[in-house]
Amino acid sequence: MSSVAPIRRALSAWYRRNARDLPWRRTKDPYAVWVSEVMLQQTSVATVTPRWRRFLSRFPDVGALARASEREVLAEWSGLGYYTRARNLRRAARAVAAAGAFPGSAASLRTLPGVGPYTAAAVASICFGEAAAVVDGNVVRVLSRLFALRVDPKAPRGLARIRERADALLDRASPGDFNQAVMELGATVCSPRAPTCGACPLRRSCAAARQGRPERYPMAVTRKATTALRFVTGLSRRRGRLVLVEDRDLVPGQLVTPLFPVRGNERPDEVLRREWRRTAGREAGPLVALGRLRHSILERRYVVDVFTFDEAEAPSRHRRPPGMSRGLRLLRPAELSGHAHGGFLLKVLRLPLPSPGGR
Ligand code: SF4
Repeated sequence: MSSVAPIRRALSAWYRRNARDLPWRRTKDPYAVWVSEVMLQQTSVATVTPRWRRFLSRFPDVGALARASEREVLAEWSGLGYYTRARNLRRAARAVAAAGAFPGSAASLRTLPGVGPYTAAAVASICFGEAAAVVDGNVVRVLSRLFALRVDPKAPRGLARIRERADALLDRASPGDFNQAVMELGATVCSPRAPTCGACPLRRSCAAARQGRPERYPMAVTRKATTALRFVTGLSRRRGRLVLVEDRDLVPGQLVTPLFPVRGNERPDEVLRREWRRTAGREAGPLVALGRLRHSILERRYVVDVFTFDEAEAPSRHRRPPGMSRGLRLLRPAELSGHAHGGFLLKVLRLPLPSPGGR
């Protein structure tokens, strides 16, 4: 292994000159840093920056978040995706409020719901100066290249090798800045497909750059096969309001247009008619196809046929059987911002409507 001292020195000097001025880097408040780390896990810095400010003005401390209802937190999180993060943030805030103090170490942070090794190490190193190395996607990429590690980071043994390297490299005198420096290098210089090695402070020590084609690292892994799931949904209005339900399939709890699974050789239009009657208690009028949407969540891929129609006025003779009620919510589009909804509903609402007489 290359000597770690020159690597630390070069990286720290580079970070001091090149660190982006991000608002969460101006605070050591563990609550604020924790929220930023959770938001950044699957969302870009550009998206997170205004949303982090907004979240903190709405829930300025852990007590405020603990007192909020899940609905309020999910509504504030709308559009950021991966809603389990928001649910866990709130659950963790409640645990902190019940304990009466914010955990003061990586080990105690990890006892909170949704806080894994990455978040715990990031918050503890940045806010408490604890010597805990972070390992996220950026760190995996930089270290795999720096040491030309021929390991699969998705496999436990491969990840353990990378963790060992991260621990050995960590600058214990300044762990928070050092962790952020490695992540910053991965985010801005050592990018997945086109690393700019000429501008990299580590190029003299980097084994992958010496070999050529550093983008081969980290080792390619076989991706989990994606599962395609077929659904049909209906866009309709009642008294000028969108007919929505709380989702149970894509992201439970978010508002969506009623969404129904299509199985085997079933026809989407027939499924929609049948299920609309059972769910909404009214007959669907003539269906107009708006298109087919594709939507992915983690390894699940949804293919959704979208129809629009007017409901028949008279209630259907068919009553919803017990357990089938999905709690219709009637909302004007302008009211959506106060309710949890996600990318899928926005895609449906952006589909061009038929003319004339568009809804
Ligand atoms: S030299 Fe290139 S491959 Fe190596 S760490 Fe720097 S940017 Fe990444």
